[in-house]
Amino acid sequence: HRRIFVPTLDQLNDAQREAATHKNGPCMVVAAAGSGKTAMLIARIQHLINQGVRPGDILACTFTRKAAQEMTDRLLAAVGERGKAVTIGTIHSVAYRMVTPELGEDWRVLSDPTWMIERVLEEPSGKNPHGVGPVMKLGEAISAIAKAKADALGPHQVSDPLTKVYAAYETLKAERKTLDFEDMILHAIRLFRTDEAFAKRWRQRWRYVMVDEFQDTNTAQWLFLLELVKAHNNLFVVGDDWQSIYYFRGARPDLMKEFLRRFPDAKRVTLETNYRSHDLIVDVGRRIIRLNDGHQLPKRVVAHRSMPEGAIAQIVTVRSDLEEARFVAQELQRLRKEHGVSWSDCAVLYRTNIQSRLFEEALADADIPYHVVGDKHFYESPDVKIILDYLRTTQDTSDPTVWGHLLNRPKRYIPIDVVHEVQHGGWEAVVAHPKCRAFVTTIDTLRRIEEPSKAIQWLVDNHPGLVRQQDEDEPIKWVDSLIASASRYKTVASFLRFVDWIIEKSKEPKDEAVQLMTIHKAKGLEWTTVFVAGLAEGLLPHKKALKGEELREETRLCYVAATRARDNLYLMAAKWYGDKEREVSRYVNAVKNP
Ligand code: ATP
Ligand code: MG
Repeated sequence: HRRIFVPTLDQLNDAQREAATHKNGPCMVVAAAGSGKTAMLIARIQHLINQGVRPGDILACTFTRKAAQEMTDRLLAAVGERGKAVTIGTIHSVAYRMVTPELGEDWRVLSDPTWMIERVLEEPSGKNPHGVGPVMKLGEAISAIAKAKADALGPHQVSDPLTKVYAAYETLKAERKTLDFEDMILHAIRLFRTDEAFAKRWRQRWRYVMVDEFQDTNTAQWLFLLELVKAHNNLFVVGDDWQSIYYFRGARPDLMKEFLRRFPDAKRVTLETNYRSHDLIVDVGRRIIRLNDGHQLPKRVVAHRSMPEGAIAQIVTVRSDLEEARFVAQELQRLRKEHGVSWSDCAVLYRTNIQSRLFEEALADADIPYHVVGDKHFYESPDVKIILDYLRTTQDTSDPTVWGHLLNRPKRYIPIDVVHEVQHGGWEAVVAHPKCRAFVTTIDTLRRIEEPSKAIQWLVDNHPGLVRQQDEDEPIKWVDSLIASASRYKTVASFLRFVDWIIEKSKEPKDEAVQLMTIHKAKGLEWTTVFVAGLAEGLLPHKKALKGEELREETRLCYVAATRARDNLYLMAAKWYGDKEREVSRYVNAVKNP
């Protein structure tokens, strides 16, 4: 399907080759998007192997699982089966591998800390001694704890009320013998420092350590890397401070300077030729990132290619978000028909997950296969699922797993043994049980509302606490989005059929599919055709991030998005998103009037 081109050593330019043939000691390569950093890393691995280094002695770290997959594909294309012995993964996955054998049998990894933090934020009680009271919002506590861990700070190195919440969370977690995602790295650092055998074993394990996307490394990961390479200092890092987009999670682009302080003798290479995009797209990138002038390293970027005939670099403005999505579908069909583009060589990028919904629907309507790269599907996210399960229960009560979890959502104080009892006894038991009366009344009322959008509105309006408080700062509210989707259907049954169909569709395995994802997930990847959606003030830049470093991060995000394209780039802006009128993004203006 997708042809993978991997330049060999002699196809690299001089600067790339100089970096790729570097053997021992620290090295840092700094270069803008599309300049062949990752390609050079692959060439270096290939070169090391050809020189007799055992593939098993090489470790290459990247930022996301998708990027790791991409790197694996490129390496296997370059060196064949031998490449399989090279370790390629995220820093987390490497730490995970090191830490899990050290834990007892009964330890588990916590995939989602939400419920534990939720407990910590409850009032203390006999049943819940870990409660510290609702001193912070749940979402805030979750991200603040993750951020503290990224900064390698313990509960007593942060300030109240976070200290209390963080400390209680740590106690509860230890009591339950669980570690969270961030703990993997912190725990590995601890083991390096306290367990000689562990340190010796893992410092011998990989003799060549490489890190792609180094600009998004956080403090904990940096400390981890330093421990890991202590025996040989063969640390080779590659990055672009223009593409640092995880500041909000503790990424520290200044580590690129720190690297040079730490390793003053490190070799330094800069790359200046952009091989990915034609000159017009390179120029679009330049005009966007220029808004951050004075705050980042100056870099020279020279386009290797001029715009081929028929290629597109275009600003598209439309009336509404619906039209934006339809435009993408139509344009994809046109490109397919007139230029034979393959679906998997096209991507739609947006700032926030929730924006995927309209594109999914437009592509599904147009029968274009697509794949949403992401966490949970919109219709399966926890709050949306609760509402949909209410609607499902109005249609069919035969499956207790559909309505069982709704009995106490919102809190109806139905005792847990009653919940179990009626789940066992089926719907008749629910109807008969006096403690379930309020729930049954809700279902009965809901049944009388024919239109799904009205049913959802009634449910949300009349059941405080049913779903999590909507974050006021989100430019697109999921409840509004759900209601907008439902309003396309006249009956609850037909809406639910649509929902099931679209969830099913998103799960079909597809090799040939248009890729839909957030800009964050697109880092390091490239496509022939890229649609950047939602270029409106408030969406990109996001309304939560309109000043200072946060705004500069939005600019870097926009730069990352635009520089994913090889030949065709569409920058899209609608006037209306939902029922909100928005100004066209400053990034569109920067491209139009440099
Ligand atoms: P990003 O910062 O977005 O991760 P990058 O610097 O890692 O970008 P690559 O993905 O390695 O860039 O390369 C961009 C494109 O240029 C790829 O398609 C790659 O195959 C191609 N490329 C890299 N180096 C060369 C070269 N010397 N000759 C021809 N093509 C090249
Ligand atoms: Mg790269």
